[in-house]
Amino acid sequence: MSSTHTHHPLSRRHLLGLGAGGALAAAMPSPLQAQRPPAPNWQTRKKPVKNIIFMVSDGMGMGAFTLAEMMRQHKGLGESHWRKLWNTEGVRRATCMTHSADGWVTDSAAAGSAWGCGEHINNGAVNFTPDELTPEPILVTAKNLGKATGLVSTARITHATPASFIANVPKRDLEDDIATQLLDRKVDIALGGGAKHFPDELLAKHPNLYVARSRDELNRLTLSNGRLLGLFNKGHCHYELDRPDTMPSLTDMTRSALARLERADSGFVLQIEGGRIDHAAHDNDAAGMIFDQIEFDEAVGAVVDWIGDRDDTLLIVTADHATANPGLTFYAKTGKRSFNTMSKASRSFEWIFDEYKKTDRTIDSFVATIERGTSIRLSDTEIDTLRRAAFEKQPIDAFDIANGSAMTLGALLANHTGVAFLSPNHTADFVEVTAIGPGSESLPGFIDNIHLYPMMLAALGVNAPN
Ligand SMILES: [Zn+2]
Repeated sequence: MSSTHTHHPLSRRHLLGLGAGGALAAAMPSPLQAQRPPAPNWQTRKKPVKNIIFMVSDGMGMGAFTLAEMMRQHKGLGESHWRKLWNTEGVRRATCMTHSADGWVTDSAAAGSAWGCGEHINNGAVNFTPDELTPEPILVTAKNLGKATGLVSTARITHATPASFIANVPKRDLEDDIATQLLDRKVDIALGGGAKHFPDELLAKHPNLYVARSRDELNRLTLSNGRLLGLFNKGHCHYELDRPDTMPSLTDMTRSALARLERADSGFVLQIEGGRIDHAAHDNDAAGMIFDQIEFDEAVGAVVDWIGDRDDTLLIVTADHATANPGLTFYAKTGKRSFNTMSKASRSFEWIFDEYKKTDRTIDSFVATIERGTSIRLSDTEIDTLRRAAFEKQPIDAFDIANGSAMTLGALLANHTGVAFLSPNHTADFVEVTAIGPGSESLPGFIDNIHLYPMMLAALGVNAPN
């Protein structure tokens, strides 16, 4: 494939039988457009990069990053791999807007599609524009350039972020369709959860595909050639706090993907997602979020090790949006003790709620299960608040959307840990982009999330649309 292959907006749109487009295209100029930074002037590389590794901490705002960094220090682990990158020669950093076509607060589908096809689309859609066009996702482009392709996530592999690099669907919850597209579009390695979207009838249509269902099988099949699908849970993979040894960690999956993809002579494009930092933040589960972020950072370390002194690989590490904006809000010594308290957590809120359902479902069982998972004993006043919120569904917070059981539990635990959350939802915060390697040289300091798509195309030697 020629490196001067031109690629302009009309030629990369394929309708895929999903509906006619154009008529609805003339949208009102949105107030968001006026705020957008101009498109950077990417230089199409004459010597294209061999590999692109795109890493996403889903839902990670600077609050989540900071808390994970502090927990590392508390445990004597030193600064994170991501932070170390900031002091590496040649690194570029940007602050990035995260909005979607229809609002300031994006979801993962619209944010991922901004990277996957370079367009702002509405929340809930995957590479499917408001005027019903289906631009080619970047892994399809990469495959057409002769590259191997990969997706790794702790979420269902059919979830919005991995889908945003491979699929075109009008609604992100069409995950059976996403599974079909992922296989039809011949992703070379896809590792994560989501087994329920890959029924035997679907797998039977792809007889040359290896399927790994445990950590042992993944290790064994990493040595094989051919396409590999790893499905390690029916739904999402477990949080790092809950993960059994039989399930690979994000770092295990990352190493396996790199070991296989590095055999591709023409290089690869790989997305790696820490998918559940977002889920824990939605739940206002501080410990669950922090330990998944630390595991994401271990995967960053594995990638940095793999890159070593290679000069042919572009690495981008970022987040799609912030979720729930957690922060440590206890001063002085009380704040320092927070990490001692949180480091005793052995389970996520997901585990606590699932485990509670196996009990007689009384407030006493709930409180006991919370203590088993967090090592925190709620006070009598806190137990009464929890009972009113979770059992009597009374509103106890002045902010309406903050009245769910999980957020109430998160707020009560904040009395012990000092880590409070803003809401159960995503926020409009800007996010960090760290990029290093060939193709990252002209990253400006402030960008829009759609700008990373032409940056990747230019790195691959493809003329990027403006
Ligand atoms: Zn989310």
